[in-house]
Amino acid sequence: GLGTRNWQDETFEGAETISGEYYKENLFVRHTACYYCRLGGCGKIFKGRGTVSEGPEYETLYSLGSCVGIDDAEYIVEADRLCDLYGIDTISMGVSIAFLMECYEKGLVSKDSVDGMDFSFGNGDTVIEAIKKTAYREGVGDLLAEGTKRMAQKIGKGSEKFAINVKGLEIAGHSPRALKSMSVGYATATRGGSHHDSRPTYEYGLKDKRTLEGKAKIAVDSSNWTTIGDSLIICHLMEKVMGMFLSENHVAMVNLVTGFGIDLPELTRIGERIYNVERAFNIREGFSRKDDTLPWRIMNEPIKTGGSKGAQAKPEELEKLLDQYYEMRGWQKDGRPSKEKLKELGLEHIIDDLY
Ligand code: SF4
Repeated sequence: GLGTRNWQDETFEGAETISGEYYKENLFVRHTACYYCRLGGCGKIFKGRGTVSEGPEYETLYSLGSCVGIDDAEYIVEADRLCDLYGIDTISMGVSIAFLMECYEKGLVSKDSVDGMDFSFGNGDTVIEAIKKTAYREGVGDLLAEGTKRMAQKIGKGSEKFAINVKGLEIAGHSPRALKSMSVGYATATRGGSHHDSRPTYEYGLKDKRTLEGKAKIAVDSSNWTTIGDSLIICHLMEKVMGMFLSENHVAMVNLVTGFGIDLPELTRIGERIYNVERAFNIREGFSRKDDTLPWRIMNEPIKTGGSKGAQAKPEELEKLLDQYYEMRGWQKDGRPSKEKLKELGLEHIIDDLY
């Protein structure tokens, strides 16, 4: 699935002209890499509309491409460059614009209230202008800068049903309707709809994507890995080299650098401990099982077309996945880490914050 026009569908008719192949053949300038990365070269500089940008990569092709109905690769290069320049996350930016486009399409906002701009899906000039206005919180940019959760609260009229965020964070381009591990992964992620807590990569390689079998475990195991990865400051894209879950490769690296002499169960326990502290922070601040959820549209409207047609993250399905996920994590039904789990992880000192 590829979130299209604010996830009204997941098949984009313009996918070919925003594909990696199209960029490679028509707009590629050179490879690039993050500072000091020895893998080097997974980044790419592309040109478009008289400028160049490092990227766009997949998430931006989705958020500032299919999600806003843009099939012009060069507009996405410019939009990507602007977001980089202003320090704006392309996913949140694109999904927020897509949300406003749908409100505009449905007549929930007037043209006057969006600065007289044409917010129709596919309007590249509007996307470019909206990014600039958001950076300066100017006019409609002041609304867009709030993100979809607060925008829906302000606009009302049922728009919260298609505000595509989890815990206020707009979701990435990995379909929670088509990928069951991502449905429970987004729902439980500490920071909301992130694809860098639970990872989608493993499930992409599975043939069986329609059943719930084993999907909660993918979310648990991959979020243990990303937690350790973040602590070690390892790029998550290293998963293709070192493994998609914690492995002996990570253990060897930690031991070579630190001399700790730990084993895989201990490294996993460290990942679990960090994740439980994050969870405890959220619980202390008022979050609970009710917040481990997905956007209404994702749970109630199936994918309309394409290979994943009919796929949907039904509410009862998500509840089952949450039960499985909580059990594996040693959390209670209400989403709190159990006292026993906290003790097992050496976190007795935070029990009083949660009970
Ligand atoms: S592998 Fe990660 S750190 Fe290295 S260039 Fe790619 S994104 Fe940057």
